[in-house]
Amino acid sequence: MNHIKSMTVQEIGAVLKELGQPAFRAGQVFTWLHKGVSSYDEMTNLPQSLRATLAEKYPLYAPKVLRRQQSQKDGTIKYLWALEDGNCVETVLMRYHYGNSVCISTEVGCKMGCAFCASTLAGFVRRLQPHEMLDQVLFTQKDSGEPVSHIVLMGIGEPLDNFDNVMRFLELVNHPDGMNISMRHISLSTCGLVPMIDALAERKLQLTLSVSLHAPSDAIRDTIMPVNKAYPTAQLLDACRRYYEATGRRISFEYAMIHGVNDTPEAANLLIRRLKGISAHVNLIPLNHVEESPLKPSTRQAVQRFQNALNDAGIPATVRRSLGGDIDASCGQLRRNYSKKS
Ligand code: SAH
Repeated sequence: MNHIKSMTVQEIGAVLKELGQPAFRAGQVFTWLHKGVSSYDEMTNLPQSLRATLAEKYPLYAPKVLRRQQSQKDGTIKYLWALEDGNCVETVLMRYHYGNSVCISTEVGCKMGCAFCASTLAGFVRRLQPHEMLDQVLFTQKDSGEPVSHIVLMGIGEPLDNFDNVMRFLELVNHPDGMNISMRHISLSTCGLVPMIDALAERKLQLTLSVSLHAPSDAIRDTIMPVNKAYPTAQLLDACRRYYEATGRRISFEYAMIHGVNDTPEAANLLIRRLKGISAHVNLIPLNHVEESPLKPSTRQAVQRFQNALNDAGIPATVRRSLGGDIDASCGQLRRNYSKKS
């Protein structure tokens, strides 16, 4: 990790040791970086000469706001940031009764090809570095003036396709000398990369794993999620069972309700059967319509019927409150619309 903001305290310590600095400086530098400073000159308890050396060897970059949209309805703020290399990603700040949650992107674009998702339309560009994920949290907090207590990895990209960088990011935001965000306040969403779910299980983190299931069968899932060809539902659900055994954490299943595709009573019954024996919570999300896609959201009645069926069968299911409906706040839409215009 050669960007200073992607480094652990120990790695910063090694850099500072080379520069002839005492050990206690590592924690100081780490803490400043995680306050979201944009210049070493803000690190007022460091000697001037050290600030100058660090500025030369490890320049800091503050992501630039390309677009900032605030929902008039619920205060949700969506950012489109320009990264150092000119690529852009989006971040959403959502306000809940329990605190402010930031939804971050983990990659520039996405290679997973889900039929309903705007993030994947323009393809995949590259993975984000740990500091580029961290900066989304730090600069959203700084720009909005709102303290962030929760993080969801549900923006553009597939977090488990960027495993090492995401693990480092989690270690950084969780660090007591940094943002100190508890793992229990973090959710990671995956389209279902089975080997990486097993790799994550080995870490035994207390975060919430969200699995984008969206269908009860291969017949349906194959038509909307290409990843299902590589890791079909039986394998995915087995990985979820193993994940629960390893971590003791209930799995949250995401289920985007798509009119006539996955919202029928038969689909609900099949889902109930498939989730038997899994400690699960199902999040029903009325599909956010994406311009380029023929898929339409389910009717309110269909969503209600589906939710009732799951609840009656003893599977807790909630309908996701939709925030930021007036500001393109669904996955990848802001970046998509920005790049279409420019
Ligand atoms: N790649 C990861 C995380 C990013 S997507 C994953 O697939 O889980 C975050 C969530 O939004 C996923 O559950 C995804 O399936 C869902 N999503 C994407 N586009 C959507 C849309 N148009 N309407 C509703 N949910 C959508």
